[in-house]
Amino acid sequence: MKTIGLIGGMSWESTAHYYRVLNQETARRLGGLHSAPLLIHSVDFAPIAAMQAAGDWDGAGKRLNGAARGLVDAGAEVLGLATNTMHVVAQTMLDGIDVPFVHIADPTADALLADGFDTVGLLGTRFTMEMGFYRDRLTARGLGNLIPEVDRTNLNGIIYEELCRGIIRDESRRIYVGAIEKLAARGAQAVILGCTEIGMLIDDDVSPLPVYDTTDLHAKALVDAALS
Ligand code: GLU
Repeated sequence: MKTIGLIGGMSWESTAHYYRVLNQETARRLGGLHSAPLLIHSVDFAPIAAMQAAGDWDGAGKRLNGAARGLVDAGAEVLGLATNTMHVVAQTMLDGIDVPFVHIADPTADALLADGFDTVGLLGTRFTMEMGFYRDRLTARGLGNLIPEVDRTNLNGIIYEELCRGIIRDESRRIYVGAIEKLAARGAQAVILGCTEIGMLIDDDVSPLPVYDTTDLHAKALVDAALS
């Protein structure tokens, strides 16, 4: 099995979940005491979030490029970036990197298409919902996608003010469920949890639409890539 390099800390709450799924999936696939050969570069999220807010995507991409290079130098053979939002700078992050990279939107699109869906709702930070980089990738795969019309500021705030800090509130869960109900009314057949922390709040038990959690799908795809 190849060594996985994970760039995490955005936020550490979801990176902790990745760590568990990467190891559980490896044990499921290989059995016994197997666990994932894994290097994690977990960044301090505060300066990254400040760069996001300031629109300094180039600076953020260069910082992540340093992390990616460090992981490869340390022996990583497959790379993953444990946040949907920061895939907006994936190209800068991968500058000079020659190991395979698993883009978080790809296993998500694969799973939705395999289950026969062609129109999906997308929830995430306002960057992921509004900047185009993520929706374009889904569209290129033949997946029509909808984002909430009215609740985006609220949904975004819940991610940064609560979930990234480990705060889980029933009222916030109701806001997310309400947004999914509206996406369903507009024709979404399933919903992408397009932020690696939303799974802390929403699962198939509470969601009115089938849930596709990018964190779980991405972690499993990284194990796949490491075993291929
Ligand atoms: N983890 C989040 C995501 O998947 C949001 C935090 C970030 O901005 O990276 O988009």
